[in-house]
Amino acid sequence: MKVVKFGGSSLASGNQIEKVFQIVMSDPARKVVVVSAPGKRFAEDQKVTDLLIECAERCLSNLDSQEIVAAVIKRYATIAEELQLPSEIVSEIQADLEARLNGDRCKPERFIDSVKASGEDNHAKLVAAYFQEQGVEATYVNPGEGGLLVSAEPGNAQVLPESYERLYSLRDRSGLLIFPGFFGYSKEGEVFTFSRSGSDITGSILANGLKADLYENFTDVDAVYSVNPYIVKRPKEIKELTYREMRELSYAGFTVLHDEALVPAFRAGIPVQIKNTNNPLAPGTRIVNERDNTNGPVIGIASDQGFCSIYVSKYLMNREIGFGRKLLSILEEFGLSYEHTPSGIDDISIILRENQFEAELEEEITKRIIAELHADEVKFEHSLALIMVVGEGMRHNVGTMAKASKALAGASVNIEMINQGSSEVSMMFGVKEVDEKRAVQALYDEFIASVTV
Ligand code: ASP
Repeated sequence: MKVVKFGGSSLASGNQIEKVFQIVMSDPARKVVVVSAPGKRFAEDQKVTDLLIECAERCLSNLDSQEIVAAVIKRYATIAEELQLPSEIVSEIQADLEARLNGDRCKPERFIDSVKASGEDNHAKLVAAYFQEQGVEATYVNPGEGGLLVSAEPGNAQVLPESYERLYSLRDRSGLLIFPGFFGYSKEGEVFTFSRSGSDITGSILANGLKADLYENFTDVDAVYSVNPYIVKRPKEIKELTYREMRELSYAGFTVLHDEALVPAFRAGIPVQIKNTNNPLAPGTRIVNERDNTNGPVIGIASDQGFCSIYVSKYLMNREIGFGRKLLSILEEFGLSYEHTPSGIDDISIILRENQFEAELEEEITKRIIAELHADEVKFEHSLALIMVVGEGMRHNVGTMAKASKALAGASVNIEMINQGSSEVSMMFGVKEVDEKRAVQALYDEFIASVTV
């Protein structure tokens, strides 16, 4: 039995939904279909989720949102027309959206979540209606009724462990189950969404809960590429990689799959297959627990911009008990989360996402670190890119770091910092954003382009 998830671009138009129908029907093992909200049909198009967020925000600011509501409804109406569905389905969607917009606004973030979630909820109803029109037994499943319970964290919900057992009973239902992605219900019965692109997470949770044999994730690329195709032309496709490798890569910029979407499938030992709705015969990429390391130490190179580092140095830092804890607790008090902490004997760098703070905060943090920890130097560095070189094979290969540094030196890239993950599955390089592309190309040439297998 397979759980199969389709992303927004796979469901953006009537034509795309017809492809989805063919794919689902071509394999009787495909039992649960997880759907996203309608995505972009072309580069400048707008995702329904983005429209819904804008709409909810305007309502909260008491601004007119009629135009955006109309744009959302038009998207569904166009799809319904293309699929020759009865117009009642569009009236139902409109009534549902209006009811949400007239709902309780006392807790703004919850209001936004309820409006946001309508994108997938209504699309799942539309897709189910289309399948039914084709004479197929297909039922829309509401996540609350189906058993998907989540924490009450707006825009960032986490699945509650008891969901898995509840979801298992969905196996007994007959026919195809059409399940909206991206949200679940709290114990109090309120809607909460996962973080953006969270339908991937729903699919993984369902695969785990229903004990599927495979989780298929359909998107709009043939495979996971070994590097960002916007940086390196025609990069190699990855046929197979491990959960850990994929997690590292998606964390640092591989957007094919949400970085939190692997854990539920991984815990249940269910392989994940990435496939292309527009080219379903392409084999895609398989994500598994273990693989043969036959193609060199590195499987992929990811990079992401928008980081900064706080460099703190103090003579004899290594001997001072509690230094790290005190430093991190200052950041905690400011509500900041950090990504990495490479360190030396007398110094430590803390790498954070830059979008977390404004200039004033920088000054305050510096003052506190100096006053409370008596640091010799505190320095912020901005506009950093992190490059992750990822591969299980690095554990067994000698000299990977040396080769990487040499490749970067050859491309005249100054390495701002290095961090080798304790798992030895990844190496991280911090470089200036302006050097990012050159650095990635050099590492790709060194580790991937040169491997012939
Ligand atoms: N529609 C949601 C988003 O755009 C969730 C998803 O597509 O996975 O973030």
